[in-house]
Amino acid sequence: MPGKQSATPGKPGRSVQKKAKTDYRYLLAEYPNIWDNCSAQDERKIMSYAEEYKKFLNTVKTEREFVKEAIHRAEAKGFSNIENHTDLKPGDKVYYSVKEKGLLLAVIGKRPMTEGFNMLGAHIDSPRLDLKPNPIFEEEEMVFLKTHYYGGIKKYQWTTIPLAIHGIMIRKDGTEISVNIGEEDHDPVFYITDLLPHLGAEQMSRKGSDIVKGEDLNVLIGGRPVIEKDTKNAYKVAILLLLNEKYGIIEKDFVSAELEIVPAMKARDVGFDRAFIASYGHDDRVCAYPALTAILDQKKPGKTIICMLSDKEEIGSYGNTGANSRIYENFWIELYIKSTGSFDELSYRKALSSAKMLSADVSNGYDPKYASVSDPKNSAYMSHGIKLEKYVGSRGKSGTNDANSEFIAEVIRVFNERNIRWQTGELGKVDEGGGGTISAEMSSYGLDVLDCGVPVLSMHAPYEVISKADLYMTFLAYKAFIEDI
Ligand code: MN
Ligand code: MN
Repeated sequence: MPGKQSATPGKPGRSVQKKAKTDYRYLLAEYPNIWDNCSAQDERKIMSYAEEYKKFLNTVKTEREFVKEAIHRAEAKGFSNIENHTDLKPGDKVYYSVKEKGLLLAVIGKRPMTEGFNMLGAHIDSPRLDLKPNPIFEEEEMVFLKTHYYGGIKKYQWTTIPLAIHGIMIRKDGTEISVNIGEEDHDPVFYITDLLPHLGAEQMSRKGSDIVKGEDLNVLIGGRPVIEKDTKNAYKVAILLLLNEKYGIIEKDFVSAELEIVPAMKARDVGFDRAFIASYGHDDRVCAYPALTAILDQKKPGKTIICMLSDKEEIGSYGNTGANSRIYENFWIELYIKSTGSFDELSYRKALSSAKMLSADVSNGYDPKYASVSDPKNSAYMSHGIKLEKYVGSRGKSGTNDANSEFIAEVIRVFNERNIRWQTGELGKVDEGGGGTISAEMSSYGLDVLDCGVPVLSMHAPYEVISKADLYMTFLAYKAFIEDI
């Protein structure tokens, strides 16, 4: 197990000689725990970075909120919309909003873009419950919202926890309303009920995926009728009336809305020693946040650096805001044209194939309680550093990018030079399951990509756990990558 290897003793069978034992540890792969031998100064840096991250988690829960906040921070650091530039010179900082649900940021390097660029790519959507287009219904004097879950979730985990509603609605006249209810202490929260154990015998005998069924993820939103007697659907009408008074919307406006149900829980330290953070949506803000903070402070890098924050990863990176959308490539082309002053497709494609990218996404942390699903020799351990994954995918490496040896070695060299603590591993045992990231699709452009991010416990649960030491190491790793590769 990483961190546990000891020096091999001297040759067996020899008579005892008072000679110093040879230390063979340099031959063995060791990945020690970061907290072990952590200096007081490093500990302070780890803890203060974690404080800032928690604040960010509490104000940014959806892809739209991420984009808005990231643009706000970027503008404060001198970034401006790329569309306001006719040409770009070294040190210029630009961004492009992908329909307000994805974001690209770049700092122009001293070297021409024909030599490639360094990119960090993370996703900013998280598993959640989306409202159905026709969500509101009344049953037995209670009002509910129907949902369709988004991403891979264990449905039973979403019952009996406080929930908030985030998103946008568009009124008939085209004006947009930003919705965020359930986060403030004085706000109401929303709730999905579960069955009392006294009557749950049949439910508990079902297999896990059916304990709570998809059609039963209905969110309780009200239970008081309108005053007028004999109103049909008096309870539902009362809720619609409230929404109409507050937002000027009617029921049909839900058809075009994008409303997301997310846990109404704040990020909190975990443990007496505060080694960990529990929060909704570490996947993938725990990589997107370090990627963002790493690029925001860049001044005039060697190569041009890009941070790509995409949407829809949890459902396969589809849609025009997902990483598979060519809208992201528009930005690279625009950077290329505005920084080199010319464009021909072959030179551009060659520049792309010399680009280097870290696919910044989470992976599973080794959980001793569920050890049987992982290969202990190829797992990432909590607080042992950023996890490098040569391949993701499943069943015989299907659907993976499988990074090139030369590129992995180059990344490791850069990390080692800055004493960045990294480890490696895969997502579970062979044939146990698997998962994907944006790396496979991105590699189709010819650039070198490596999956590289923070290990998570209870991944995709409403409240996930990460290590503060891994978070800070990931920030240092992303910074080293964009500066030194
Ligand atoms: Mn992810
Ligand atoms: Mn995920």
